[in-house]
Amino acid sequence: SIVVTGATGHLGRLVIDALLSGGIPAAGIAAVVRDKEKAAGLAARGVELRIADYSRPETLAGAFRSGDRVLLISGSEVGSRVAQHTAVIEAAGAAGVAQLAYTGILGGPEADFDLAAEHKVTEQLILDSGLPYTFLRNGWYTENYTEHLAPVLAHGAVVANAGEGRVASAPRADYAAAAAAVLTGEGHLGQVYELSGDTAWSFAEYAAELSRQSGREIAYRNVPADEHLAILTGAGVPEGFAAVLVDVDKAVERGALARTSGDLARLIGRPTAPLADSVAAALATR
Ligand code: NDP
Repeated sequence: SIVVTGATGHLGRLVIDALLSGGIPAAGIAAVVRDKEKAAGLAARGVELRIADYSRPETLAGAFRSGDRVLLISGSEVGSRVAQHTAVIEAAGAAGVAQLAYTGILGGPEADFDLAAEHKVTEQLILDSGLPYTFLRNGWYTENYTEHLAPVLAHGAVVANAGEGRVASAPRADYAAAAAAVLTGEGHLGQVYELSGDTAWSFAEYAAELSRQSGREIAYRNVPADEHLAILTGAGVPEGFAAVLVDVDKAVERGALARTSGDLARLIGRPTAPLADSVAAALATR
């Protein structure tokens, strides 16, 4: 089977959609999920459910079968992910899967920001396992920005500590299509893909696009890191997560998320969706 972990998450659902719309029969797809109720829609479409929790290794014993082509979607519980991913890799190894694709981070071992640490360790664990692997080093999702428009529109400002840094983002659906391509195509074993949008945009350009499409004046307000941290925590963002966001902006300023290798467009066989499309979609749902 083609097996997708994290299949009830935003990216995982889109990967399943891409597999089905690409002609893979539902009977050939398995979803590894921790919450059966949340996966009812997948089951209704004929996708096999395998219930397992990254944090409970014993539950992973039945998650994989010999010959499966597996996508490990990195967990969302920052700080717990090395132990979680270790358990998944061990279960995949014990089953003898034919491919383990992993959603890491743009730049791989060179990514020098806090969120990258667990991805770097995970890639090394996969290499050490000897499993046939494919590394999908995902750049930033455009939705990281466009799904959080309410405060931007309310204050007429995109607030960040990213300076003139640029982000080569792409919508999740493009990364999902790339994952589906490596799970269903040939020639991807042992390959490393640096996935990002075709165009790297600056926060000033993002603010200008928001202004153009919303008809309101939206400015880019570049603030020092400590001021950004105070703004975020003042708005109710938990301290730890606020620190992660500020650290990401510093990485953006250094250019760590601006790479445009073209790998994503090549894998999906079309240009990545531009920022303007995601802005339009986000404004339309408001
Ligand atoms: P989501 O939070 O929507 O999805 C995460 C998925 O992982 C969910 O299906 C969740 O299950 C599952 N999961 C989390 N913990 C466990 C666990 N202990 N056992 C089993 N499953 C678990 O994130 P996205 O889909 O948006 O992104 C996918 C991943 O990409 C994130 O988890 C994160 O590692 C990374 N990411 C990348 C970003 C980028 O810009 N490149 C931005 C943000 C995250 P459940 O549905 O039950 O909650």
